[in-house]
Amino acid sequence: MSLPSGLRRAVTASAARGEKWLIALDFDGTLARLRRARSAARLPHGRRLMLQRLGRLPGVRVVIVSGRELADLRRRCRIRGAALSGEHGMSLTGFGRAWSHPATARLHRESAALAAAASRLTLGMPGVEIERKRTSVSVHWRKAPAVRRDPEGLGRALSGLLRSGWRLAGGKCVWELRPGLARGKGDAILLAQRRLGPGARVLFIGDDATDEEGFRKLGRAAWTVRVGPGETAARWRVAGPVDVDALLVELSTARRQAGLSSSTSRTRPRSSTRRAPQR
Ligand SMILES: [Mg+2]
Repeated sequence: MSLPSGLRRAVTASAARGEKWLIALDFDGTLARLRRARSAARLPHGRRLMLQRLGRLPGVRVVIVSGRELADLRRRCRIRGAALSGEHGMSLTGFGRAWSHPATARLHRESAALAAAASRLTLGMPGVEIERKRTSVSVHWRKAPAVRRDPEGLGRALSGLLRSGWRLAGGKCVWELRPGLARGKGDAILLAQRRLGPGARVLFIGDDATDEEGFRKLGRAAWTVRVGPGETAARWRVAGPVDVDALLVELSTARRQAGLSSSTSRTRPRSSTRRAPQR
């Protein structure tokens, strides 16, 4: 796999100009292969090292943005130097003081009642898993055969549980009961970008509905890449997590080459001056 040609040109030109980069990546389905059990999702060691090296290059920083809770994400990522954003943009840790949305405490209380109601609703649906998070509830149905036949039916039933100020959002084999706040992964990425100072170019790579919200939020100013098939608002697409590796390698190479050529052009006049007396 190689980088989409438009993205390669943009990356090379940006690296040559010495622009700062913020590389934002979703976790499940982007960095970790989707597994039948969510708890089995792992960041492969080689990919972790690659992200760590990339984030150490001058002018490059990495942030992982996920629907998972921050503590869960931290356990799974362990990428030194990277920032993390959990629960679809409701928190950010890294590049400065830890931040969480001011409504977190209220949403945490409300999510308890919603999770309990969702548990009662799905009692007769074997395989459904309810995950209560700090500011949302995820209803996973990947392992529920009855729901796989009619996911929309479960969605309609869950909609009936929502109190005002909450909304239902779909993802891959999951319904999310989320606060109705206009807040998502794109907002967390923009916050991380502001923390890096002016002029940082954003690259955001993701595979699911909440990433699509992020692609739309970031707009054309960002480099956006969809992983896998499906309609997308992203500017480019790659096939799967393995292709994300190739993309990371190309980014790293572009950055190193730009760094080398700028250091060569800086040192060339000095070295020719030093050599002059020996001729
Ligand atoms: Mg994902």
